[in-house]
Amino acid sequence: MADADQTARTESQSFHFKAETKQLLNILIHSLYKDREVFLRELLSNASDALNRLRFEMVTNQDVLDPAAELAIHIRVDKDARMLMIQDTGIGMTKEEVIENLGTIAQSGARKFLEAAKDKSADLTQVIGQFGVGFYSVFMVAEWVRVTSRSYKPRAKAVSWYATGEEDYEVSPAEMNERGTKVEIQLKEDAAEFADEYRIKNIIHKHSEYIGFPIYVGEEKQPVNKQTSIWRMSKQSVTAEQYKDFYKQLTLDFEDPLLNTHIVTDAPVQMYALLYVPGKSDRGLFSLRREDGLKLYSRNILIDEYNKGLLPEHLRFVQGVVDSEDLPLNVSRETVQATGLMARLKKVITGQVMKELENLAKNDTEKYQTFWQEFGGYLKQGVATNPTEGESIYPLLRFKTNLHPETWSSLEDYVSRMKPDQKEIYFIVGDDPRSVLRSPHLDYFQKQGTEVLLLTEPMDSFMLMGLRKYKDHELKNVAQAEISEQTEDAEKQEQMAEADFSTLIERFKQVLGERVTDVRASNRLSQSVARLVDADGSLNPELQRVYKYLGKDYEIPKKIIELNPSHSILKKLLATDPNSELQTLVIEQIYESALLVEGLHPDPSSMTPRVQQIIEAALNSGKA
Ligand code: ADP
Ligand code: MG
Repeated sequence: MADADQTARTESQSFHFKAETKQLLNILIHSLYKDREVFLRELLSNASDALNRLRFEMVTNQDVLDPAAELAIHIRVDKDARMLMIQDTGIGMTKEEVIENLGTIAQSGARKFLEAAKDKSADLTQVIGQFGVGFYSVFMVAEWVRVTSRSYKPRAKAVSWYATGEEDYEVSPAEMNERGTKVEIQLKEDAAEFADEYRIKNIIHKHSEYIGFPIYVGEEKQPVNKQTSIWRMSKQSVTAEQYKDFYKQLTLDFEDPLLNTHIVTDAPVQMYALLYVPGKSDRGLFSLRREDGLKLYSRNILIDEYNKGLLPEHLRFVQGVVDSEDLPLNVSRETVQATGLMARLKKVITGQVMKELENLAKNDTEKYQTFWQEFGGYLKQGVATNPTEGESIYPLLRFKTNLHPETWSSLEDYVSRMKPDQKEIYFIVGDDPRSVLRSPHLDYFQKQGTEVLLLTEPMDSFMLMGLRKYKDHELKNVAQAEISEQTEDAEKQEQMAEADFSTLIERFKQVLGERVTDVRASNRLSQSVARLVDADGSLNPELQRVYKYLGKDYEIPKKIIELNPSHSILKKLLATDPNSELQTLVIEQIYESALLVEGLHPDPSSMTPRVQQIIEAALNSGKA
């Protein structure tokens, strides 16, 4: 109709891209040239999302346009015209939806990406993968793009959206009788390769093989992709290669997963699940998964793209698909979480993943170490936040110790190596594995050959809030552990006379004044001159760290300084002139060194002038 045509033209409207969208387009066009083919994966994944949403809608609503149309994706190319066209029979978009979805960066991922891009030092190709950029990736290959869409709502009108990736986009009424969305792309000259059926089919095999709807290319009647729901197949019929392939297409991770497990069960709930532990904790470059969560299907219909209710927090790195016939189809995405069935699914899934991890730890130590290095922090967090269920995580924890600083030991390893009369599991907290080995708190344990867990990551202090006891053994901070009187041994240096030591203590008190709450002797130092300990009743050192990490206004409480009565430095110090400047300097330095090894020194470089004075004094006395 000529009239309709007239109105169509006059109703065409021009819109500006938001500034942030332009910025994103710019980055895409210029920095991601090598991986351009992923634009097709993005468009196919959008088509598949649209088809999934339509299928979900049709469960409860028969009043849709073209109810009998096949749920499918069609791709056509025109080599001479350098055109590529992708069409789906999915949910479609109304005019408002087109403007909302394609005109602005609705996707939170892309917005986060742009925030990261503002930081000039960030490597964009690294950050882009964490967020994904979706539809706009088409401008890596497109001179212009036209999206024509007709919503499933029977009375909605077709609409078209046109953009060149520059300043503006245009929205106008369109002629389209079928439901769904058609994306027409005029390829750039240097992107002509994508107007080739063979090339397109290869990309589909590589990135989109398991999309759950048929993808037809050209006139062919056979879909290009397998579209199998391999999680619904029997375990015997899926090869290791297929498991890996599916993972890579689900996540677009380029690396193999560390672990996969396939659950096919009828009791206590009917469920198919295919779950993976990724190789890395960072979502890879161009990852398809933008959030944590499992894909939840009911009878092969996707009802939740990122379901977070099926795994405990500490296993949120697990990727995969869950499909249960027991889930009622008409549940809304929101109420899925609320049904008791979810709790049962979660129990089975969690149990299975934990079992697999335990088996891995038992059967492949090396691979388990890789796992631990990537995901150990999640498990520690689980112990911190789940005092009740945390125990199931204990067998998976790994530690470095003073006796085995290079390898990872389990709590069970530690217990099996405990001395016959040892009751407690000892640990030390500190800032890094090397300095912690120099801590005076370790002196006694090193000398006795007693094993101590080295806890040097921030998360460790949080973990200790939940991990109080393993089997019958309490965990005990070496800084606070009660120890039996140090046994006499022949090598032991002679302690200084009590009266001399009292004099020394008085000198320390005089010099350090308010900075310490007390000065006293220690019976457990051997290599070290001094150590700092907490006064009775103050917060334990792990909790002090927790407060420090949480950035609370929390002042480290004043400490007691303990001195080693056998140490030669102190003996010599006693021999120096009590009123000399050198004695004061050395006392100050002993105190500040102790602060330093505790990781409590507020300004280590401030020690330099004093250290220079001490060096000078040493050189002078050498001359005499
Ligand atoms: P995402 O897919 O992560 O939401 P995209 O940038 O890929 O982000 O797409 C933006 C939005 O545009 C989608 O959320 C969807 O609402 C809409 N959209 C894109 N392609 C289609 C399509 N083929 N059919 C229906 N809606 C679509
Ligand atoms: Mg998308």
